[in-house]
Amino acid sequence: MSKPSSRDERAARIRELLETEGDAVAANTRGFNRGRYESTADLDDYESLKAEARSIKEDAIERLPDLIDDLRERVEARGGTVYVADDAADANAYVREVVDGENVVKSKSMTTEELDLNDALEADGARVTETDLGEWVIQLADEEPSHIVAPGIHKSREAIADLFAERFDLAEDDRPETAEELTRFAREKLLTEIETADVGVTGANFLTADSGSLALVTSEGNARKTAVVPDTHVAVAGVEKVIPSVEDLAPFVELIGRSGTGQDITSYVSLFTPPTPSPPVRFGGPDEPIADPGTAGGVGAGEPHPERDFHLVLVDNGRLAMREDDDLRETLYCIRCSACSNSCGNFQSVGGHAFGGETYSGGIATGWEAGVEGLDTAAEFNDLCTGCSRCVPACPVGIDIPWINTVVRDRINRGDHGVGDERRDGDPGDGVAGEFDFLVDGLTPDEEPAGLDPAKRLFGNFETLARLGSATAPLSNRAADLGPVRAAMDRWLGVARERDLPKFERETLVDWFRDRGGPRVSESMARREAVVYPDVYTNHVAVDRGKAAVRTLEALGVRVTVPESAAVGSGRAPLSQGMVETARRKAERCRDALLPEIEAGRDVVVIEPSDLAAFEREYERLLPEADAERLADGSYEALEYVYGLLEHGADAGGLTAAETGRDGDGGETGEPVAYHAHCQQRTLELEAHTVAVLERLGYEVTTSETECCGMAGSFGYKSEYYELSMDVGEPLVEQFGDAERVLASGTSCCEQLDALLGDSIEHPIEAIAPEP
Ligand code: SF4
Repeated sequence: MSKPSSRDERAARIRELLETEGDAVAANTRGFNRGRYESTADLDDYESLKAEARSIKEDAIERLPDLIDDLRERVEARGGTVYVADDAADANAYVREVVDGENVVKSKSMTTEELDLNDALEADGARVTETDLGEWVIQLADEEPSHIVAPGIHKSREAIADLFAERFDLAEDDRPETAEELTRFAREKLLTEIETADVGVTGANFLTADSGSLALVTSEGNARKTAVVPDTHVAVAGVEKVIPSVEDLAPFVELIGRSGTGQDITSYVSLFTPPTPSPPVRFGGPDEPIADPGTAGGVGAGEPHPERDFHLVLVDNGRLAMREDDDLRETLYCIRCSACSNSCGNFQSVGGHAFGGETYSGGIATGWEAGVEGLDTAAEFNDLCTGCSRCVPACPVGIDIPWINTVVRDRINRGDHGVGDERRDGDPGDGVAGEFDFLVDGLTPDEEPAGLDPAKRLFGNFETLARLGSATAPLSNRAADLGPVRAAMDRWLGVARERDLPKFERETLVDWFRDRGGPRVSESMARREAVVYPDVYTNHVAVDRGKAAVRTLEALGVRVTVPESAAVGSGRAPLSQGMVETARRKAERCRDALLPEIEAGRDVVVIEPSDLAAFEREYERLLPEADAERLADGSYEALEYVYGLLEHGADAGGLTAAETGRDGDGGETGEPVAYHAHCQQRTLELEAHTVAVLERLGYEVTTSETECCGMAGSFGYKSEYYELSMDVGEPLVEQFGDAERVLASGTSCCEQLDALLGDSIEHPIEAIAPEP
C-alpha cells in the first residue's frame, strides 16, 4: 500500500487504522508491555544484564569484519557455505540459485522481509510457506506485518477464523473458532508443508563466531523443524547478528523474551551448529522429544552431516555503512525484541501499519529504514516518534532510540527526501514549505535551511513565539483565538483547531520575581541557594507554577533567584522538530547562562521535566562532555529537589499539606490525588520523588499506568495527529476519569489531561506550595 503523503491523507490513514486495527494492537502491545515490567522485575540483575548485553554488541560491531571471518571459517570447516551479500538483489540471487524453484518452508525472519525474498523465490516458481503462525496468517491475508515480533498483532481471533474459513473453504461446522482450535488447524497444515518441503529458510537471532552456531528464539518451535527437516537449510541474517562466542548468548537469552513479550524465557531457544543431522521428527507425536540427532542421523552427535546442505547468507544491505555512521551505528545493536514498539504510546494506538516503513516498525524502525532503505521511507513515519523516551529504559541494549529519530528527522529536514518535500507541490493544507515561509519568517533566525516545513519551524521556534506572545498579551491570546485565525493556522501551519492554544501571560515569572523585590531569604539564613530555571513555558505561560516553586523553596529555607539571564530556551522545542543545529545553539546559550550559577554554588531547579531531560540526556550530544556533565550534575527536578531538602532535615511545616478526613473506622485519611508523571521524568527515574513528597504531606497518591499522555510537546497540536494524540491519552480517562484532583508534572501533560478530563490540572508543586 502506498504511504499517504499529505497531512489530510495521513490523518485519514491514522483514523482508519485506529478504527480497524487499534483495539487489537492496543490490547496486545499493552499486554506485552505489562508483561515486560512484571518479568524484568523478577530479575535482581536487570540493569547489569542490560549493560552486559550492550557491551557485547558494542564489541561485536567494533570487531565485525574479523568476527565474520571467524564465522566463515567455522561454518566452512563443517561443510557449510557462507555468502556475504552486498544488497537485497545479491542476497536474493544467491538464495534463488540454492532453492531453484523448489518447495520452501520459512520461519519468521525480518531480514527476509527486508529482502522481499518470498517474491524473488516465487518469481522462479517456488512455493513458499511461512511456518510462524502470525506470518502464515499475514501471508494468507496478503498483508504486511504490523509488529516485528508478532506480525499479526492487528488481527482479532474472529478475523483469523474468518480468514481460515475463506481460504480453506471450510463448512460452518468445520470452522475453527477458539484460539486453541485455530492453532491446531494451523499446526496440522504447517506440519504437512514442513514434511514435504525441499528447502527450509530461517533467520538467525544470533550467530556465534567461535563455533559457527546459530541461535533461533521462537514461540512455536517451527523454526527448529524448518531448519532440520528439509535436506537443505538456508539461514539468512543481517551481518549485525554475529556475536563473538556461545557464552555471549546468555544475557540475550535472558532478556529477549522478557523485553519483547514479557515471557521469562521464550518457549523455544534452539542452538544449531549446521549442517546438522536431520533427526526423524515425529509429527504424529508432537509431545515426544526429537530423537538424538547424532544416533538418528547415523553420525556422531555434533558431527557435521555429510548429506545435508547448509548455506549462511549474511546480508550487508547498508549495515556496514551504518557501522561507520556515528549516529546510526547504535541501530546495529538492536536484537529486534520489540520492547520499543510495545512501550510506545503512539505504537500502542496505531501499530506498525502506520508507525513503520518498508519492513521495520516501531521506534527503532527509523534507524533501520534510514540505514537499509534510505531517508525517503524513514520520512514516512519518523514524525510518529515524539521523543517521549519511554523506549529507552525498555531497550535491553540501551539504544538511544529518540536520538536516532531526532538525527534522522534533521537529515530529512535538510535533504530532499522528506514528506515535507512531497507536500510542496500539494494544496496549501498539505503544509506547503517555501512559498509560505513568510508566515513564520518572524520566528527566525534559526539554524535551519530555507524551505523547512513551516509547521516545524513554528513549533521549533516556540521560544520566539512565547516572547512575542507575552509582550503583546492579552491581545495575542485574543487574536490567536479568533475563528479565522485558527482556521488559517490549521490550513497553513497544521495547528489543530480542536486544541486550546497556550495563553501567554503579560507578566512573566522573571518580571514577577524582579517586581516583588528579588530573593526573600537572606544569604545568612539560607539553607541553600538555588536558581529556579525560568523555562519558556513556566516563564510565559504557566507562570503560577513558577511562583509556587519559588514560594515552596523559600518555605524550605532556600535563597531563590530567577535571573533574567537564565530565561533562555533549553533547545527542547527545536530538538523535537529535528532542528539539531538550532537546538545546539540554544543549548550553548543555556549553558552560558546556567553554568556560572552552578559555579557560584547555586543549584538549578527545573520545573519542566522535558527541559531537565534535555540537560541530562541530550546535552551530552550537543555540548562538550564536561559542560554537559556539570550542568546535569547541578540541576534538579523541582520535586526531586524538595524531596532532597526534606530528607536533609528541612521543615515541611510551611508547605500545604493534604486535607484530611475520616474513614469508616474513624481513622484519618489523606486527600486523594491522581498523579501523572511526565514521560521523560519517568525515564530519568524521578517519578518516585514526587510521590514521596506528596505522601509525606498526607496525600493519597494514585499514579498513572500510561507511558505517555499522548500530547508529547507539540505533537498533539498537529492537526494530522490530533486524533491519535487523544487516543493515546484515552487510558488516562479510564484511570483518572473519576478523580477529584489530578496533578501532572509536564506542561503538555497538563494540557492533554485538561482536554481529556475537561478539568484544570495542577503541577504537584502547586499542590504543596504555601498560599501566596
Ligand atoms: S531498539 Fe531495543 S527495544 Fe527496540 S527492538 Fe531493538 S533491541 Fe528491542
